[in-house]
Amino acid sequence: MNYRHAFHAGNAADVMKHAVLAWVLERLRGKEAPFFVLDTHAGIGRYDLDDQAASRTGEALRGVRRVIAGASALPDAARPYLDLLARLNEGATTVRHYPGSPLITRMMMRGQDRLLLAELHAEDVQTLRNLFRTDAQVSVHHMDGWLSLKAHLPPKERRGLVVIDPPFEAPDEYERMVAALVLAYRRWATGQYLLWYPVKDRAAVWRFHQMLEDTGIPKMLSAELCWSDDDRSDRLNGSGLILVNPPWKTEETLSDLLPALQTALAAGTGPVGCRWLRDETGKPA
Ligand code: SAM
Repeated sequence: MNYRHAFHAGNAADVMKHAVLAWVLERLRGKEAPFFVLDTHAGIGRYDLDDQAASRTGEALRGVRRVIAGASALPDAARPYLDLLARLNEGATTVRHYPGSPLITRMMMRGQDRLLLAELHAEDVQTLRNLFRTDAQVSVHHMDGWLSLKAHLPPKERRGLVVIDPPFEAPDEYERMVAALVLAYRRWATGQYLLWYPVKDRAAVWRFHQMLEDTGIPKMLSAELCWSDDDRSDRLNGSGLILVNPPWKTEETLSDLLPALQTALAAGTGPVGCRWLRDETGKPA
């Protein structure tokens, strides 16, 4: 396990993923009933963008720090994400403290909600444990996130979200993700799912979308924000998300939010937007 998210925290892919995550959580908060979130590849939860790891790559400079500078032009859908950043940085004009997906979820939870985190890296899981040491609503598990789907779904709360955000180090990560979604969906068909994937080689992404379509799972939307038209497999050209059972009006919201984020990131003119892989009737769109 070589991947450490501390080197990439707050980059353009994080901005896209976390802005959408915060908006989805905001919608879950819209109903009083408790929600449950399972985050299968949690990372350390909170990042210091001035530390050695983040400073070495400088990725946040082309990510969240750039977006914050152009934040006033972003649509309302970006508000939950921007509010979290402001709260965590106590209104400072620049972002030093950056929330990973666990902290974003925790900051959006009410007293009745619950979060379960899986992280396999021995050191990172310890950092994550320290962050939520005294928190009765969060449980941290040192375990394989793929296995956590079987162990912890379905939850006793009947609503919620599963976040699957692996490092994509293994060559078969796309296949593994599809298999994991099928397994999880079989156990919890009414849950919402948010899956992150890298846009590198376009043919690999097409195959991934085809595999997802072939599962027959309905209400499945893909969303992408690319910063390059290139079809190079040796670098990240964009960030992708798969949303299953997304909230009402997600397509409209993301069709507005993603191009605005692309502009705020000064991320070029690569492909951006969303598309149903299967609509609510289960038909390929
Ligand atoms: N979701 C996090 C966020 O948005 O802040 C970032 C996650 S990072 C992309 C992927 C994480 O998965 C790393 O912290 C890595 O140590 C962890 N990891 C890798 N393989 C894993 C596995 N099989 N099960 C659980 N965690 C794993």
